[in-house]
Amino acid sequence: MNPRRLRILITAGPTREYIDPVRFISNDSSGKTGFLIAAAARRSGHSVTLVHGPVTLKPPLGVRAVGVTGASDMLAACRQIWPKHDVLIMAAAVADYSVAQPSNAKLKRTAATLKLVLIANPDILATLSAARRPDQIAIGFALEDRAGRRNAESKLARKNLDAIVLNRPTAIGADENQVEILRRDGSWAAWPVMSKRRLAARLVELAEQLAEK
Ligand code: C5P
Repeated sequence: MNPRRLRILITAGPTREYIDPVRFISNDSSGKTGFLIAAAARRSGHSVTLVHGPVTLKPPLGVRAVGVTGASDMLAACRQIWPKHDVLIMAAAVADYSVAQPSNAKLKRTAATLKLVLIANPDILATLSAARRPDQIAIGFALEDRAGRRNAESKLARKNLDAIVLNRPTAIGADENQVEILRRDGSWAAWPVMSKRRLAARLVELAEQLAEK
């Protein structure tokens, strides 16, 4: 039996937090995984919205793409469209902080040191997940360089997720990835190394399974 047609909201890529008109802080993220998930979800017949930060990739055909810059833009865009979706797959590498007072003019190198005041960004996934209907599914990512499973477990709980995809920094920019999947029931599954394209298709299957329950 074919899974029902879902409305899937996918986020991808980094966010960019400007310091002045030409400088920013960001995360190292190509957006590849999120874009491949969007393409896989579309191939499986789902209706897909892709909210993405600044990347060089072209959105897949047939996907509604919404380009954003900062974490606050991403939150605003997602907040507006999340109610019309069944599944959220939050693959974006959201910057943890933004600049308290970005300068309107390009900063000059006048002093030997420069202090930037940063403010913690809202947690988009936790915000959307807290405001979800019982029928809506939320899947997050955790990129961890140590204590991976422990950190993923606490993130799943804190962000109130149905599943979390644990991966390592070697995933950044690579064409292959090896992930572990933690579900809400506490069960772990270690998936083998696979192409990001194959991984994207498997994650869409996971979303379909979770949405069936
Ligand atoms: O807490 P951490 O950044 O490791 O959590 C990763 C997960 O949370 C990812 O799915 C990421 O897209 C999401 N996230 C978010 N908003 C933030 C930070 C992370 O939605 N400000």
